[in-house]
Amino acid sequence: MERVTRLLVASQNPGKLAEMQKLAAGLHLEIVAPRDVGLLVAPEEPGSTFLENAELKARHYSLASGLVTVADDSGICVEALGGEPGLHSARFGGLRASDADRNRLLLEKLAGVPPARRGARFVSAVAVARGEEIAFAVQETADGRIADAPAGENGFGYDPLFFFPPLGRTFGQLDPAEKDRVSHRGKAFAALRTWLRSTFPA
Ligand code: IMP
Repeated sequence: MERVTRLLVASQNPGKLAEMQKLAAGLHLEIVAPRDVGLLVAPEEPGSTFLENAELKARHYSLASGLVTVADDSGICVEALGGEPGLHSARFGGLRASDADRNRLLLEKLAGVPPARRGARFVSAVAVARGEEIAFAVQETADGRIADAPAGENGFGYDPLFFFPPLGRTFGQLDPAEKDRVSHRGKAFAALRTWLRSTFPA
């Protein structure tokens, strides 16, 4: 009988689990969620970089479950704000703020800042742990600038404000496949897919 490896995805977010299912399609992997193995509490992310956070999360869940575990961390760093919201991107404006609230707050903080100083970078870090060992890690970025007003209905989070010069549109104006080709997460997940394919071949 062929061996199927259970791959734990260190996220309670159904969107991320679905994305990982797609990524692992056809490989000898069974994707499981923390709750499938009785883990409910998301650990703190006390690291000082995206990569450190992804690695800490992957190790934590791998040690707790005994399974190979993939974790990611991402966010947006805005030049004129000294790199903020950065690691705090999901909590910018408080835990109860919506994406629209966060985008409004970002625009307020950048009021009067000229285009040349509105540079921003999306970052995505992905790590795979086997117990203590980090078996794979990657970090990718996408560089752009914060627009003067939101544009586009696609994507999530800061996408409507993230103007991407090579395509002349915001991420909110790209269809999902277009965004995947150029985005921080699209590139990091493509590298993960290559690693998964070579490590758990079909
Ligand atoms: P986490 O990776 O789940 O910690 O969340 C990172 C946060 O960064 C998200 O909640 C979004 O606010 C923001 N973010 C990360 N990647 C993207 C993206 O591709 N588009 C828009 N916002 C993003």
